[in-house]
Amino acid sequence: MSIQKGSTFDCPECDVTAPSASVPYDALGYAVCPVCSHATVPTGDDA
Ligand SMILES: [Zn+2]
Repeated sequence: MSIQKGSTFDCPECDVTAPSASVPYDALGYAVCPVCSHATVPTGDDA
């Protein structure tokens, strides 16, 4: 309940935070970090 992942992308690799709407997605629908290109697997919260 402390972390809300609804509209913000948080990269676990480089710790960058960006609005989800501005983050690109790969072919599998994973958010791709605009800084380090790390693909983040969604937790299934809002699939
Ligand atoms: Zn990153």
